[in-house]
Amino acid sequence: MQRILEALRVSYTLPELEEMARDEERPVKAFEDAKALLGEAGNLESYRHLTIEEGREIALAALERYDAMPTLDDFLPQQVLTNLVKAVPGSLKELTSLFLERRLAYSEEQLFREADAATRDRIMVLLERGTSAFYTQEELLNALAWIGDELVQAHFHQWRTALPPWRTAKGFPLDCYPPNAGWELTSEGVRRDLYYQANYDLVPTPTAQTDTGPVGILKPHEGTCGWCRLPLLTLIDLDLTDSRMQFLEMPGTRLRLALCANCTLQAQPVFTEVDGEGKSVWSPLNGEPWEYLCFPGEESLEEILEDFPPHVLVLGQARKTPFIDHGSHLGGCPGWVQHAAYPLCPQCQRRMRFVGQYLYEVEALIYAFLCVSCGLAATHYQQT
Ligand SMILES: [Zn+2]
Ligand SMILES: [Zn+2]
Repeated sequence: MQRILEALRVSYTLPELEEMARDEERPVKAFEDAKALLGEAGNLESYRHLTIEEGREIALAALERYDAMPTLDDFLPQQVLTNLVKAVPGSLKELTSLFLERRLAYSEEQLFREADAATRDRIMVLLERGTSAFYTQEELLNALAWIGDELVQAHFHQWRTALPPWRTAKGFPLDCYPPNAGWELTSEGVRRDLYYQANYDLVPTPTAQTDTGPVGILKPHEGTCGWCRLPLLTLIDLDLTDSRMQFLEMPGTRLRLALCANCTLQAQPVFTEVDGEGKSVWSPLNGEPWEYLCFPGEESLEEILEDFPPHVLVLGQARKTPFIDHGSHLGGCPGWVQHAAYPLCPQCQRRMRFVGQYLYEVEALIYAFLCVSCGLAATHYQQT
């Protein structure tokens, strides 16, 4: 905790340090270190072992920093608060009204997730009045989606049949907001989560370890991609008999989720048929290849496979919340590099549930999804 508080203290001098850095044409170390520790993405490691009290103290220090320099647009206080809401559940309880007073907004507004009923109702009023000069309708809808309680669900359900007066028919359907917060409404208006509560680190194998446990990452695959003919790769190979894999609610002994190193990496979901006994076959439901798909030449097939990072990962510790979404992990929420993009199951047309993600490169992730009832899996890719 002390490191984060110290970084916040350093952050008061960031504008000056940045100026110095520009003058000297080299980064100032204290500045870089503070930014790295406070910033988003990849830095949740420093937050995940904090207690609620420590998290709260840091949140108050972040608000103090914001109040001291409200016009500075480095978004560091907002990033700190977002890290806390992801990694230290409970630490922002009773503080969210202070965010609203300060008109704080950041990324997909997850920082409002633990909002109390009064703050939620104030957000609703801002939305209905349509007069907030500080929050866009998108920001308010995303904040509500993250709150996602029964009242919010009822509103989204209602808006399906009767478009509210503050929304024009030209905007996106209001149904597109809940998935930004990891859920969707069923046709009956019931919340259906698109992520699992269980969440595990995927970590590099300790050297010379032969027993790799219930999870294999990037294993060979016997199948080929129906579009580009490249051999598929098994992105995630799961031993369903291991008790830690029960959260998937997938009957059977083995589940394999495959990717195509050519097509998946061109940011189109690639679907495979799966069952609980290790079946993994490229699905005809992929349909025709999309218009802009690049096909590899014969000579580059091996190159593409060889280029794939050979990181061997195994199942690590359980994460304490599903919202710790950085790096490679199994279960929990996806750490979207861009916007939320849960693929629609081509069979049942519901959004597929997130199974896990693999950190391919810095700010480039491969995501895996599953529709248990249809026996379909998907892999998807995003980068900055
Ligand atoms: Zn392919
Ligand atoms: Zn389905």
